[in-house]
Amino acid sequence: MKPIEAKETDKKSILDLSVDDLRALMKQWGEPAYRARQIYEGLYKHGHKSFEAITNLSKDLRQKLNDTFTIRRLRQVDAVTSAKDETRKFLWQLHDGYKIESVIIYEGKRTTFCISSQVGCPLDCKFCATGKMGLLRNLTPGEIIEQVLQMSEIIENRPSNIVYMGMGEPMLNYEAVIASARVLGDMEGFGLAPRRITISTSGVIPGIYRFADEEQPFSLAISLNSVDDEVRKQIMPISKKYPIEKLLHAARYYTEKSGRLITFEYVLLDKFNSTQQDARKLVKLTHSLKSKINVIPCNSDDPLYRPPSKEKTAVFRESVNDRSRRITLRKRKGWEIQAACGQLYAENEKRKKKSKN
Ligand code: SAH
Ligand code: SF4
Repeated sequence: MKPIEAKETDKKSILDLSVDDLRALMKQWGEPAYRARQIYEGLYKHGHKSFEAITNLSKDLRQKLNDTFTIRRLRQVDAVTSAKDETRKFLWQLHDGYKIESVIIYEGKRTTFCISSQVGCPLDCKFCATGKMGLLRNLTPGEIIEQVLQMSEIIENRPSNIVYMGMGEPMLNYEAVIASARVLGDMEGFGLAPRRITISTSGVIPGIYRFADEEQPFSLAISLNSVDDEVRKQIMPISKKYPIEKLLHAARYYTEKSGRLITFEYVLLDKFNSTQQDARKLVKLTHSLKSKINVIPCNSDDPLYRPPSKEKTAVFRESVNDRSRRITLRKRKGWEIQAACGQLYAENEKRKKKSKN
């Protein structure tokens, strides 16, 4: 699918620059180094949308910045709120016309922002609406951060957690994802504690090793979704390349190297992965790992990929409960607002086609 328009200025997005890039730029412009920090704070701590508003900079510098860069914000195309105000989902248009989604999830006192890392995704998981799009392009660090700044502005509050669980596979856009998380998890930048930022991967093993070796301070989640290689290959083609045993090996490497917990996401799909036997195998394979398990009933309108009945879900959950670990069952939040990733996008495309006919 081609982008529809590209009418933004040619100016570079300043949100794509790291604090080190800003420092180098200030040096090049003959400005003192502390200016970089002032710009950085103006953009992320205070969320300014114009250089004019960063009043601790000189007028000349503000002008020069304005001539060179733009402070981008996403354009809101659609937004849907679930009936009980538990989730709010946004569809944004990027400056070149592509569209991405983000979600706000309210759970008690927690406000979680779920953000996208790519436009679409190349990995084609069968139960996932984003998978059906294929990969259209990677997001830049600035475009990932824009989602957070935009939603903070809308709710006039900051998130308590950020999860990279929107569209895309973060480990296939590694540099941009880490660059954005650095800004979001920097006390002098956006200022969220790094452990409150979770990168979720479908199991791209080299990315997990890299993440561990670089000692990234962010949290890590793996979407396991099946404990049987044959089934996993069927629902997650990436499993052909990276089988379960090797994936768990990488997970162990990460937990041992970092001393931290890993989260296993497990989307319950009726007829694929939700029997008591599956639950027992899941415990067997993961109990010796420092981990927690998130069980998520599938949320999809595809008749092939349905969540199991309430009873089956309860049995699964009970069987996975090994007391030593935290097991959470996410409610089917936002079912009525297409809250699984890629679904609002798909809904919007459908509507667009209809209105053309
Ligand atoms: N690509 C990464 C992150 C984005 S997907 C990954 O796969 O982990 C984020 C989460 O949404 C994953 O755990 C994925 O399994 C889950 N997911 C995808 N489609 C879903 C659906 N229809 N219902 C419930 N969860 C879904
Ligand atoms: Fe991509 Fe994750 Fe969706 Fe799989 S579940 S297609 S990896 S976004």
